[in-house]
Amino acid sequence: MDWHQFNSKLQELGYSEKDRKFISQAFEFASKAHEGQKRASGEPYITHAIAVAAESANLQLDAVTISSSLLHDTIEDCGITREEIAKNFGEDTAFLVEGVSKLGSVRYNDAQQKVESLRKMFLAFAKDIRVVLIKLLDRLHNMRTIQFVRPEKQRRIAQETLEIYAPIAYRLGMGNIKGELEDLAFPIVHPNEYAWIIKEIALRVPEGEQYLREEVKQILEQALAAEGVTPLTIDYRKKHLYSLWKKLLRYEMDMARITDLLAMRIVVENIEDCYRALGIVHQLWKPLPGRIKDYIALPKQNGYRSIHTTVFCVRNKITEFQIRTREMHEEAERGVAAHWAYTEEGKPKQGSEVARRLQWAQKLSDWQKEIGSAQNSEEFLESLKIDFFKDRVFVLTPKGDVIDLPSGATPVDFAYAVHTDIGNHMMGAKVNGKFVPFDFALSSGETVEILTQKNKKPNPEWLTFIKSSIAKNRIRAALRKEIPQTLHATQTQQTKRASYQFIITVRDRVGLLKDISAVFSAFRISMQHVTVNNSKNNPFPDIVISAQLRDTKQAESIATRLKTVRGVESVSYKTI
Ligand code: MN
Repeated sequence: MDWHQFNSKLQELGYSEKDRKFISQAFEFASKAHEGQKRASGEPYITHAIAVAAESANLQLDAVTISSSLLHDTIEDCGITREEIAKNFGEDTAFLVEGVSKLGSVRYNDAQQKVESLRKMFLAFAKDIRVVLIKLLDRLHNMRTIQFVRPEKQRRIAQETLEIYAPIAYRLGMGNIKGELEDLAFPIVHPNEYAWIIKEIALRVPEGEQYLREEVKQILEQALAAEGVTPLTIDYRKKHLYSLWKKLLRYEMDMARITDLLAMRIVVENIEDCYRALGIVHQLWKPLPGRIKDYIALPKQNGYRSIHTTVFCVRNKITEFQIRTREMHEEAERGVAAHWAYTEEGKPKQGSEVARRLQWAQKLSDWQKEIGSAQNSEEFLESLKIDFFKDRVFVLTPKGDVIDLPSGATPVDFAYAVHTDIGNHMMGAKVNGKFVPFDFALSSGETVEILTQKNKKPNPEWLTFIKSSIAKNRIRAALRKEIPQTLHATQTQQTKRASYQFIITVRDRVGLLKDISAVFSAFRISMQHVTVNNSKNNPFPDIVISAQLRDTKQAESIATRLKTVRGVESVSYKTI
């Protein structure tokens, strides 16, 4: 697609003259920046930028996102600075382009990484859903043209597409993009399985298509018309090959058990017609028990809505039907993007829909904050900001591997997460190439390098600022080995201590006392006296613990921590 074709597409899609002017300036800028550069296919590089922008326009994204799509490789590949983009196209565009570049610098190909953590990190780095969308469309075009890349690189990119990009597209509800990404990657990652499936469906698909077209469709149309339901379209969909393969894995590779290789799809005007159409289908053909799925009443976690049913159709052939409204259909194809589709003012439509769609992310991170239903566009844009992962930071090793840490984590936490020996012999830390103090709070995206020295040992002071329990346990283990008992004793004597008594009301359970004592040992405090006041019939016994503490502040910290133990109902303390 060249600029001329792209521009007329924008016009067709209803982009205003003002927006088209803005987009064409981005095109001029990107063309100049990429001048002389070529894709692996030999085509001018700008064709890639136009392809990504054209897909953004297909999703009807706003002018800023389309311009950012055109500019998405200019920082990384042409040495253009963020400031230049901000000066020419404003802060929003600069933010998006920079976001896409940052995502590009992360490596996802380490087999030891947990894939889920990589997906989370991907989103945490992106900071804005629009950055994710551009990156997905960028990957889509790269996958469409992957045959020009050398085989080894093809495999790496395809694997990453299956593990990171397609699942993210799925979770954002973008069924089309997810399906296409997977089907492009499938033959590269699993060539034999792909060949087998192609052979298996070679006859089944055309036969099934003919059956639906010639035997089922007319009967259905007549029955709907007789009941006064006017469908907008009756069509069928072919199952994507990769999802077929994944299903076959669950069905012992038995193709005979796959009943949705093809499915009839009925699109109607409104929800009422969906249920009426369902009734009509069931009057015509007997449904298979337990196979009616009402994703309208109970949408999937990624927001997918439709009614599915499987029936004994014409000649008793088992056939799946999918019934939905036009709006649901659009949503199922375009996902999260369907909800801030372009409007004249560039304002989004329904924020609450996006919030609903993003619930999966909430679950992923025990995300406390309610996105809620954003009423105005400002709140809505806020809801696009990805801050679900406030409680985690994702940092990189010098090799580009991802380390997932609790928020506020320090280089010491990082060192122990990488390896106990690195933590135990740590002598210094660099973040993005600069020396930092040991208690430096890391942020997502930073590259951390730990310097070690053989004779270095962990410092007890680290325990006061580190955030991860792994580091805590390992430092304590190392200290127990290192510090001679006598030294330990003098240290205790030197600090003045007072006696405190904790009264802990609990709902007793197995292991509760162990968890409570773990809190005290976390503070390196030994419990001196423990009694349990457990009178008969009392569902809430008291546990009374006395201990020597430094001060009331320490008692307060211990009490606060105790309250987080499951089964602890209340905690009080006093000096004795
Ligand atoms: Mn690109």
